[in-house]
Amino acid sequence: MKVSWDESVCIHAGKCVQGAPEVFKVEDGKFIIDTEASSEEKIADVVSECPSGALRIES
Ligand code: SF4
Repeated sequence: MKVSWDESVCIHAGKCVQGAPEVFKVEDGKFIIDTEASSEEKIADVVSECPSGALRIES
C-alpha cells in the first residue's frame, strides 16, 4: 500500500497523526507515512477522514 501526501493541500488538521500515530508522524521536521506500521484497513480509514483530501491511497 502506498499513500501520498500533498503538502500544498494539507490544512494540518492533524486527523492523520491522531488517528494512526504509528503511521503518520513527524520526524526531524518531516512528515512521514509508514504504511508498514498498521493494517491497510486502518490506514484506509484514517485516509478517508482527512478533511482536505491531501492524503491519497495510490495503490
Ligand atoms: S488529516 Fe489530512 S489535512 Fe489533516 S494533517 Fe493529515 S494530511 Fe493534513
